[in-house]
Amino acid sequence: MRVVLVGPPGAGKGTQAQFIASNLSIPKISTGDIFRANVSGGTELGKLAKEYMDRGDLVPDEVTVAMVRDRLGEADAQEGFLLDGFPRNVPQAQILNKMLAEFGTSLDVVLELVVDDEEVVRRLAGRRTCRSCGKVWHVVFDPASKEGVCDACGGELFQRDDDREDTIRHRLEVYQEQTSPLISFYADEGILQGVDATGPVEEITQRAMAELR
Ligand code: ADP
Ligand code: ADP
Ligand code: ADP
Repeated sequence: MRVVLVGPPGAGKGTQAQFIASNLSIPKISTGDIFRANVSGGTELGKLAKEYMDRGDLVPDEVTVAMVRDRLGEADAQEGFLLDGFPRNVPQAQILNKMLAEFGTSLDVVLELVVDDEEVVRRLAGRRTCRSCGKVWHVVFDPASKEGVCDACGGELFQRDDDREDTIRHRLEVYQEQTSPLISFYADEGILQGVDATGPVEEITQRAMAELR
């Protein structure tokens, strides 16, 4: 199955992607995670992406698309995948459709995680990420048992540079202007499914899985 997750920053895409992908036995492909790994690894791609990410702007399409094209060409993505954070504007969505058509396939479902802006700000402001394993926590909604330490691997938890209040506000504007047009784009294609993304994580996963049968 070929699935895309869309939703504002902080909607819970990364959190849900991990469960949905493992339920479906497909790889989770998160462009944000790939960019962050390249930034911390100091690669050329990371150097290119960093200034855009720090501002909360989108990384240029040609850079992002080339990276996704490479990833979708890998062996584990041939039978299906879950895209988290891509596409993020209509031109990326059009290129993705073309890419998949070249492979003789197409998207099955686009899941839209629906949450309001206030909840998004609460979620992003309290998000903490493990420097070692990448696992995501929340200071109130999903706290680590020892402050600043990842329960899963013992790594150090940090706050993403782009999760500061003014950058959060800018990312929400970028979402409204550039990403939200994807909702009607995919609704017109007849593959959009809205998922109420409020409430306990497991219930949201159940709702999402119900749209994938
Ligand atoms: P969020 O938690 O806001 O959904 P992500 O981890 O998906 O954030 O993305 C973090 C940053 O990485 C974005 O603000 C953007 O700079 C960059 N990025 C991720 N995916 C894309 C994409 N498809 N196109 C352009 N930039 C992207
Ligand atoms: P995205 O990838 O869409 O930016 P994340 O999955 O990183 O979102 O989640 C953002 C923050 O919200 C994290 O701190 C996460 O722990 C928290 N979170 C995720 N799902 C829920 C939920 N259902 N209720 C409360 N907090 C949540
Ligand atoms: P279903 O009946 O299969 O659950 P819905 O009619 O509830 O599907 O639509 C799923 C999601 O798509 C909802 O979030 C809805 O707001 C959104 N949606 C449906 N049609 C459009 C459209 N033409 N433009 C934008 N969003 C749409």
